[in-house]
Amino acid sequence: MSYILDSEIKFLPGIGEKRAALLEKELGIRTFRDMLYTFPYRYIDRSKVYSISDIDSSSAYIQLRGKIVRISSAGEGKGRRLIATLQDGSGSIDLVFFKGVKWIQGKISPFKEYIVFGKPSLFNGAWNMIHPELDPVGESGTSSWPSTLIGIYSSTDKLRNNGISVKVFAKLQQTLLQKVSGLIRETLPQEIISSVKLPSLTFALTNIHFPKDLRSLDAARYRLKFEELFFLQLSLLRQRNVRMSGSSGIFFKKVGDAFNWCYSRLPYELTGAQKRVIKEIRRDTVSGRQMNRLLQGDVGSGKTMVAMLSALIAVDNGYQACVMAPTEVLAVQHWRNFERSLSGSGVRVALLTGSTKARERREIDGGLRDGSIDILIGTHAVIEDNVVFHRLGFVVIDEQHRFGVDQRARLRLKSTEPPHILVMTATPIPRTLAMTLYGDLDVSVLDELPPGRKPVQTIHVTEEQRYRMYDFIKSEIKKGRQAFIVYPLIKESETLDYHNLEEGYQRIVNYFPAPEYITAVVHGQQTNENKAYDMRLFAEGKAHILVATSVIEVGVDVPNASVMVIESAERFGLSQLHQLRGRVGRGAEKSYCILMTGYKLSEDSRKRIELMCSTSDGFELAEADLRMRGPGDMEGTRQSGLAFDLKISDLGKDGPVLAQARSVAAGVLAEDPLLESTPSALLRAGLDRLRQTGGKEIIDYSTIS
Ligand code: ADP
Ligand code: MG
Repeated sequence: MSYILDSEIKFLPGIGEKRAALLEKELGIRTFRDMLYTFPYRYIDRSKVYSISDIDSSSAYIQLRGKIVRISSAGEGKGRRLIATLQDGSGSIDLVFFKGVKWIQGKISPFKEYIVFGKPSLFNGAWNMIHPELDPVGESGTSSWPSTLIGIYSSTDKLRNNGISVKVFAKLQQTLLQKVSGLIRETLPQEIISSVKLPSLTFALTNIHFPKDLRSLDAARYRLKFEELFFLQLSLLRQRNVRMSGSSGIFFKKVGDAFNWCYSRLPYELTGAQKRVIKEIRRDTVSGRQMNRLLQGDVGSGKTMVAMLSALIAVDNGYQACVMAPTEVLAVQHWRNFERSLSGSGVRVALLTGSTKARERREIDGGLRDGSIDILIGTHAVIEDNVVFHRLGFVVIDEQHRFGVDQRARLRLKSTEPPHILVMTATPIPRTLAMTLYGDLDVSVLDELPPGRKPVQTIHVTEEQRYRMYDFIKSEIKKGRQAFIVYPLIKESETLDYHNLEEGYQRIVNYFPAPEYITAVVHGQQTNENKAYDMRLFAEGKAHILVATSVIEVGVDVPNASVMVIESAERFGLSQLHQLRGRVGRGAEKSYCILMTGYKLSEDSRKRIELMCSTSDGFELAEADLRMRGPGDMEGTRQSGLAFDLKISDLGKDGPVLAQARSVAAGVLAEDPLLESTPSALLRAGLDRLRQTGGKEIIDYSTIS
């Protein structure tokens, strides 16, 4: 018998084919379940009404009740706005509408009483409310609602224009809840419900839409967050068990000549953290299981050497290794690095990128097939289908966030035995997010920088100080140092950005005239040869200044550079700024990061800039980024294909729920690692649901193992 929550939404009274199609298109609602799991994003407390004279803070949403005493319009064109003045016994306040002016005009009638909900803001010394919600009193303000906490759902213009206002939507939820009343099946095992002290699913779904009171709402929320995060963790941890239970891990019997050759010639002592991580990797490669390890290390922590030494262990055991980098510039840099460290060792390294010439390409293909090439370094080109390895045993993916899930899966298919995989990232991922995104990976952390690094001094500079800043760069160049000057590159306005860069470049060349000063330039519109040429000029110290778009952000290593200027710094995210800053401070000299912005900054931008100036801790910045922007926006999560749709949890704030959900999930799996037993049927059903809905990408991830 089919389950009522699986019913199509068109069968709900009040929704026909047309509205059903609209709900699916606008909100992704197809079934009763989808509808029930579309939660309010906030609540109005109908029991609390503010007096206008009591408004004293612009921080919170509040409710007012009064009459509209005047309607007027002001401004022209884009600035045109409608102002409705609301009066209660205590005072008056302007309600301001910039959008949908006509529509609002038709909706508001003077001298009627309204309940107004919105966020007060201060303008010219007086309080007003921008785009508040308005309800005529009597229609909804009183007894027709089942509780005093009213859920507010997000809506769209299309829905509103087709008769599904927020209020109608709430009514539909009410109808639905009545229809399924008594028929909702519990999704969590009873033991978990009682040990975590959760309310039932029925209680939670009822109270998330129509809270009886604040306590019930909190309990409902907790239950739904827990459920969401629990199944996510269960899925990730179970995948890990699946991977662990497979016996198919390549066994690297020995550490041999190639490794020892390189190790004994290192120009420096490895840091304690580097040694520890290499040991962890070594352990994985003799465990009989496939390694899937994430290596996190702040910029400059020395991940490359860890990758090289681990790759050499593969080579020592007769396997090939492959290192994948996100950009050509970076692939070339890695290749040079490997060549420099390994020349004379007998280990053969090759470079394969989009601009490898056909003849050379054929040669590489041959060398990969017959096994004479030991280590292949390259960009996305290395995962194309026509690249065939003789015996691939170890894969390094550098700066992982530029690679999609399916690309990793393709790499995995390049070998009959699954190669060990090391994913390296310099984007410090906050614990909560790491747990969620990489719950099925083992994580190593390089938490120690090579000795002698001095913290980079970070300074905020505005346009007026530009030439003083240039003079400062000159003084650094005089000391023999080099400088980066970076411009933002944002896809949507590439031509504009390019224009800015050109302009900036001209200004630099004028102020830093050749031959005294040599300026190199690198950007996305150049040919690869030109890019490589200018990059090399700078890397070899022949150019003093490198003007670049943010292409240089990942991994470029020029230890002699001591100044990083970031133009329009307000347009970069925190972790991107941190990445860029990490390009300097690599040598022994004191280094500087200069954040250029316009004079006027939004509150958010100002906060970011201030944070950058006050801390150099990548993890602290990443946590702040997560709090400020939410995980969906975190650099990297979206591109990685791992971003997913959490309906109610907020990874920035729900760390404790996540931790509890994870520990309960781990407990369940300790008893039944693959969830194969009969009592686990309920949990298997939950995972199936996850697979059908938002968790798709997460599940796909398992194709790697
Ligand atoms: P990242 O982790 O950002 O990829 P790199 O691997 O590029 O860092 O290393 C940054 C710099 O530190 C390089 O110049 C590298 O040669 C140097 N380095 C790496 N390990 C050590 C070490 N143990 N001692 C001193 N310098 C090191
Ligand atoms: Mg690197």
